[in-house]
Amino acid sequence: MPIRADNRKYYDARWRKFRLAMLEAAGNVCELCGKPHRLLNVAHLSNDPADRRYVAVLCPRCHSKQNSAQRIAMVRRTQAQTRGQMWLTEELRLAPFPVRTWPMASRQMDLF
Ligand SMILES: [Zn+2]
Repeated sequence: MPIRADNRKYYDARWRKFRLAMLEAAGNVCELCGKPHRLLNVAHLSNDPADRRYVAVLCPRCHSKQNSAQRIAMVRRTQAQTRGQMWLTEELRLAPFPVRTWPMASRQMDLF
């Protein structure tokens, strides 16, 4: 899956060094299915490219399964935008993106 233009800044030389260290620590096998693969990914389990705490070494198949909900949310969001559909709430519009990128007013949850 190609990296979105606004997320490319997270995949610099430091990321590549971090990625290689993660692959070596995982023994160059997928941490989910345990199989070796020549194209192992370091996957962001939180779907936030800035996050380096919740990451795992996954083969492309496991990576695809892991972030399918995120992909579906992004596709639905993009389709709604191109069709000019309105969003019911700001939270639904922002849902596929990491919370740290939301406007501060939308981060406040009105629970009570
Ligand atoms: Zn796997």
